[in-house]
Amino acid sequence: MEHDRATEEVLEFIWSEREAGRSSVAALLEIEEVKEEADRSTLDTMSANGLINVEGDSVTLTDTGESLAREAIRRHRLAERLLTEVLAMDDENMEKNACSFEHTLTPEVAESICTLIGHPPTCPHGLPIPKGNCCIATKSEITPLVNPLDKLKVGETGRIIFIVSRQHTRLDKLSTLGIVPGTVLRVHQKRPAFVLQLDETTLALDPEIVKEIYVKKVEV
Ligand SMILES: [Zn+2]
Ligand SMILES: [Zn+2]
Repeated sequence: MEHDRATEEVLEFIWSEREAGRSSVAALLEIEEVKEEADRSTLDTMSANGLINVEGDSVTLTDTGESLAREAIRRHRLAERLLTEVLAMDDENMEKNACSFEHTLTPEVAESICTLIGHPPTCPHGLPIPKGNCCIATKSEITPLVNPLDKLKVGETGRIIFIVSRQHTRLDKLSTLGIVPGTVLRVHQKRPAFVLQLDETTLALDPEIVKEIYVKKVEV
């Protein structure tokens, strides 16, 4: 079954509301972006089509709704990562584009994008990106453009594209060290500790943090 844009948007909002611990129908219909596309009758139709369950003021996803919402959320958040950080688009343009772009992505294109940008675990807002087949099986013929830092070999150089850490303290600490998107660094050593070279300085990083830094390899 093909689903229209309003249906997909509403499914995505139900998913996001649930992440925030909410399931109120009234609150959902008050969300600006939802108001533009949907009303009570949209919910009735979605309920009749077996996508959602409405009970009193509470809305939940059926199994079918759940898998559709999962795919839509995945496409939206991948589009955000691609547009803001890989293509360096500003926030306002990014939201507009991410919202229209996601509806045109086929599952195959979503997998290619995910692979290309290194299967990021979160979107730029720090929200989880549901995993696709590409994230589980590494059967792809696509060579990723962006990879977690630990994929670089000793002596290779990379430019930081994004950092997926959800911990602000960790991000602050990294930025005081100069580890921010745009920084170019070289892998000095990987074992026993991960050591980077940044301009003239070398610094050792916790292996956990190394996995949160996504880089594009650059030739020097
Ligand atoms: Zn986001
Ligand atoms: Zn993936």
